[in-house]
Amino acid sequence: MNSRHTLAPESFGPTITIGEILVEIMATTVGDGFREAQSLIGPFPSGAPAIFIDQVARLGGACGIVSAVGDDDFGRLNVERLERDGVDVSAIAVLPDMPTGSAFVRYRPDGARDFVFNIAKSASGCTTMTEAARVLIARAGHVHVMGSAFAIPGIAPILLDAVSIVKARGGSVSFDPNIRKELMGGEGKRQLEDMLAVTDLLLPSGEELSLAAGIDGEAGAIDSLLSRGISEIVLKRGREGSSHYSRTHGALHAPAFTVEEIDPTGAGDCFGATYLTCRRKGHSPEQALRYANAAGARNVTKQGPMEGTSSFFELDHFIATTRSEVSL
Ligand code: ATP
Ligand code: MG
Repeated sequence: MNSRHTLAPESFGPTITIGEILVEIMATTVGDGFREAQSLIGPFPSGAPAIFIDQVARLGGACGIVSAVGDDDFGRLNVERLERDGVDVSAIAVLPDMPTGSAFVRYRPDGARDFVFNIAKSASGCTTMTEAARVLIARAGHVHVMGSAFAIPGIAPILLDAVSIVKARGGSVSFDPNIRKELMGGEGKRQLEDMLAVTDLLLPSGEELSLAAGIDGEAGAIDSLLSRGISEIVLKRGREGSSHYSRTHGALHAPAFTVEEIDPTGAGDCFGATYLTCRRKGHSPEQALRYANAAGARNVTKQGPMEGTSSFFELDHFIATTRSEVSL
């Protein structure tokens, strides 16, 4: 039986994650894909695990990431940003023969997005357990796992190793399932079950909650997941804010802040990183939800997925000057 407990405090060791680093290049106009010449803006530092860990660092949390970039400007752009913001970049390998990952993104009029990705066959897809990665994992107090990282070649075994090493020394695990229905067959389902069995903090959004639980309806899904031993579930509700569920604190709801959404990418990662970091620093779930809602909302007001990561100073100012919707 895995021991599940409250999140390991900061003093126990850094928060780490493992997964893709890439640049994002965005179309400046709304429309249908990339089959004509058009104006673009970027490169912006990106990759869900990279955004997450940058947000931890901006809040003063000790943290690091295991990943790989190419020996090119896209890689340098990312590593320099993460290092500047305080992330331990010692376990980011620089691979001379592979390009840094990239994503071209264009919004359609209905809000859907067209992508051109180069991730699986980029440096990120060649991430391995290096000596530097071992050293970082050995002193980590918490591992954050993104469900989407399992789709990247080579990442799953490193993630699973990191989870068992950190758990064995009494550390904790958070899991953002980012599940897509299409990935729920066979191996995807098994990986999900394995992760749920070791998760201390689960961070689903929307339908991921019922997909993770395998049960329709919010209340039943939450009860079933808490019964498995997950100590905290924090549900992201986009413009509707967020909710916390645990056996110790019951249900808590926090309204979203009212902002103009410029670029929604990265909100969930900033939210999760902020919630986790606040809890590891000893904040109450109420206080952590409020800061996390502020971090998610502030992120969507900036173009570029990592451009809107926030310090506590920025979050306090944002909270003091931004209206929030009436409670759910
Ligand atoms: P992503 O789209 O990055 O995968 P997600 O679906 O995991 O994100 P969301 O619920 O979209 O997560 O966003 C996380 C949090 O950020 C929300 O709970 C909310 O607090 C805040 N947030 C996101 N979008 C908005 C918005 N348009 N206005 C205000 N707050 C927002
Ligand atoms: Mg969303």
